Amino acid sequence: QPSVEFRDVDFGYDPDRQILHKLSFRVEPGQTLALVGPSGAGKSTIARLLFRFYDPQGGQILIGGQDIAKVRQASLRASLGIVPQDTVLFNDTIGYNIGYGREGASQEEIARAAHGAAIGTFIESLPRGYDTEVGERGLKLSGGEKQRVAIARTLLKNPPLTIFDEATSALDSATEAEILDTLRSLAEGRTTLIIAHRLSTVTHADSILVLDKGQVAEQGSHRDLLQRG
Ligand code: ADP
Ligand code: ADP
Repeated sequence: QPSVEFRDVDFGYDPDRQILHKLSFRVEPGQTLALVGPSGAGKSTIARLLFRFYDPQGGQILIGGQDIAKVRQASLRASLGIVPQDTVLFNDTIGYNIGYGREGASQEEIARAAHGAAIGTFIESLPRGYDTEVGERGLKLSGGEKQRVAIARTLLKNPPLTIFDEATSALDSATEAEILDTLRSLAEGRTTLIIAHRLSTVTHADSILVLDKGQVAEQGSHRDLLQRG
């Protein structure tokens, strides 16, 4: 399991408006760091920088001690798994959607990932099982089901670094609670970055970083942050 480190990262989408200001934080190997903060604080920007959709103007980002600016794009992206807020599925089979990015995965591996994401029994109950077409012209999955497909895809990929970007914030609260349980077990023992809106959804994180205006406002365990008010 790799560590992740931001070292004095400066970033702005436009030269005249800085979003991250000398941002530094570290995720220890196998640990879960939650990034919380108000909308516009720069949380998703951090995920975009990890994928190198953009490069910082200053500082360094390291995964496993390696500066990601020196890693080939393809191998960098292969090392990251993300569960986004709204998973958009390909108009293809549910099995293809789970196996995407891991072509050559066996049916058994796909089924194991689906069960790990607690959607295996549901898929296997469908008349065409993993060959069921989903998306626009196929079976319409609920928001929670789509998130479980994204979780299964991540489980199958088994990336060194997993990112959840507001992965439950578009769901109703009952579905959110179920998916949070699955995410918690997925994060166990993996280097994980969780981007979240509310503190109450990240109580299990090893450390919580409160981001405000692109800077670290506070960092500590859930209990530390509650005690400080
Ligand atoms: P958060 O995820 O914390 O809500 P974001 O990282 O999405 O915040 O955005 C941080 C700031 O960067 C916001 O002020 C937002 O308007 C701005 N921003 C986000 N994406 C872009 C972009 N592609 N171009 C210019 N500004 C952007
Ligand atoms: P497994 O895939 O391990 O066999 P199940 O499919 O039986 O697990 O579901 C495990 C949990 O996930 C149950 O609590 C169930 O309510 C929930 N669940 C099952 N199917 C779905 C689904 N399609 N979408 C969301 N949650 C589901």
